[in-house]
Amino acid sequence: MTGAVRLGDLDLRLAEVTGRTIRLQVLVDHSAQSAGRCPTCRWAVSPTRPGCPSHVVALSLLENRPLPSWLAHLAGEVPGIRVRTETPSDDERRAAEDSAAGLFPAPRRVRPSGARP
Ligand SMILES: [Zn+2]
Repeated sequence: MTGAVRLGDLDLRLAEVTGRTIRLQVLVDHSAQSAGRCPTCRWAVSPTRPGCPSHVVALSLLENRPLPSWLAHLAGEVPGIRVRTETPSDDERRAAEDSAAGLFPAPRRVRPSGARP
């Protein structure tokens, strides 16, 4: 399969607003071995891509995480999925604050000339 994954490639249940039970069910139905094919949608999985799109989306929904980059274009289409820019994680927020210039200027220590600590 080549090209970007579309909403139609996902489990039908993910195209609607889902509760935890449905998400868990999709996750279980699309749980593949570490290598092989997803038993439900026949997506080829490998150790480097361990999950079909439905599995990954269901996991992101359950853990309230943004989609990985290879599925990020679906963020606006799957109901309930978190959009990366909407609510930055604590790490992203801290990094942004840390890089903000002059937010907390370091106090300048002024010693009288000639004085030694
Ligand atoms: Zn699948």
